[in-house]
Amino acid sequence: MFAVGLTGGIGSGKSTVADLFAARGVTLVDTDLIAHRVTAPNGVAMAAISAQFGPEFVAADGSMDRTRMRTLVFGDEAARKRLEAITHPLIRSETEREMREARGAYVMAVVPLLVESGTWKTRVERVLTVDCSVETQIARVMRRNGFTREQVLAIIARQATREARLAAADDIVANDGATLESLEQEVEALHQKYLRLAHARA
Ligand code: ADP
Repeated sequence: MFAVGLTGGIGSGKSTVADLFAARGVTLVDTDLIAHRVTAPNGVAMAAISAQFGPEFVAADGSMDRTRMRTLVFGDEAARKRLEAITHPLIRSETEREMREARGAYVMAVVPLLVESGTWKTRVERVLTVDCSVETQIARVMRRNGFTREQVLAIIARQATREARLAAADDIVANDGATLESLEQEVEALHQKYLRLAHARA
């Protein structure tokens, strides 16, 4: 299936843009949601986490004890790697399964860390980057999450740069000072383009 990878920094407007594609009937595969689900109650990673880290890392409801795990991996790089060795392949296979099973002309994978996590670019036909200035990101996330400027800057510092995301992009949604109407128009034009490309490739 023709696949588009949607990415963008925190507060760029990924979720907003993804919702506009979903409203056009495009199936979304949300990698954040999948990452959360593998360690949710009865998640596919839970048996391995219990076996490797001990049952004390499993909460009463069968989900990962996130607070305990966060405390462990915060100061312990090897533990973080061990956790990722369990979760990453499962997130990857779940994502691939959802993309395979998706219906419609094309599927859109929403991948916040697409540029950061190496292989994604080869797993989609096109990369769509939602772009805005760092100042816009800061203002939006301060408002949305109630974070301080410093907290937002710390998150941005851990993500790829704006330039790196633009360099990886085949298509760009400019989301600085865009209104919902202008975003709708940008998304509609891209949607038509992806329908054409998917059709040409089928
Ligand atoms: P991301 O998923 O990339 O973190 P969101 O789509 O959640 O970003 O957008 C961040 C915040 O900014 C949300 O509260 C959203 O409603 C708002 N937002 C996004 N785009 C615009 C825009 N063009 N104009 C005004 N607010 C916007």
